[in-house]
Amino acid sequence: VTPVTYIPVQMQKQCVSAAERIRGKPYEAFFDTELLVPADRLDLIQRGPMPEAFHVRPNPVDVERSIREIDAFPDAGWALVDGSVAFVQSRMFMPGVTVEIMRWWFLWHANEPERYSLWFPHAHVSNTVSDRDRYQDEALSYGERLYNNTNTVLEYIGPSLVGIDIHFQSPEELGLNPAFIEAGGFAFNASAWNAPSFAPDTAFSLMIHLGRDTEQGFEFISRYWIGAHADLNRYPGGEHAPAVLETMGFGPDELEGLAYELSVHDMTEFHHLAGFLPDLYRKFS
Ligand code: ZN
Repeated sequence: VTPVTYIPVQMQKQCVSAAERIRGKPYEAFFDTELLVPADRLDLIQRGPMPEAFHVRPNPVDVERSIREIDAFPDAGWALVDGSVAFVQSRMFMPGVTVEIMRWWFLWHANEPERYSLWFPHAHVSNTVSDRDRYQDEALSYGERLYNNTNTVLEYIGPSLVGIDIHFQSPEELGLNPAFIEAGGFAFNASAWNAPSFAPDTAFSLMIHLGRDTEQGFEFISRYWIGAHADLNRYPGGEHAPAVLETMGFGPDELEGLAYELSVHDMTEFHHLAGFLPDLYRKFS
């Protein structure tokens, strides 16, 4: 592993304030500001975009194909796809983590911004859930608590502070084939369509998080798209994404830069989480 040694100024400041804020919380000991990632994975994303053979479009057929053929894909990578959407993909194994533990995390961390900051102290500012009572109701299933219960996150992706409304849904609601999910044994899902918080009616992103238990630990597969693409028009307001991107000043160059920054963010936050999650679960579940 190698430490993440470049931290944008805004994220340095965020880390300082998160450290102050978390003081006195029962899980304060899990606040760790040293970020470590495997050197070989870091190398994968520092050599420019992935070749076109690995450009996946945000439609169910392409998504499913990319996961069925996952052994052919690099474990991390990014690209600008079709000139208008940032694409990031990754796969990792988390020893000591299980489907059950990851579900617990997704239903635990959004209760307080301090918990969210454990995940990525330099980048995660806050996360609020639209229906807290439902989110916390232990009589309900994972899906009943998380799906269609908007998480509004504020976080740095690289130096940019972004507000995103995350609409978690079942794979089926997002358009994936239930038979594909079943055949892959993907018992964990935290996939969503997303909108910028300032334009909550415009889907400008699809995020796929699928996981399964394996002998090497929890296998976690992620795919992200942010931008505008005809394939995103299946989600609410996707057709307005080009206008929203223009408002944000996001053209192809900015989107490609975002793809790389999001790739760094994804790699950093999920390796960091994997490092403390089994112990956190033992103490707080
Ligand atoms: Zn994050």
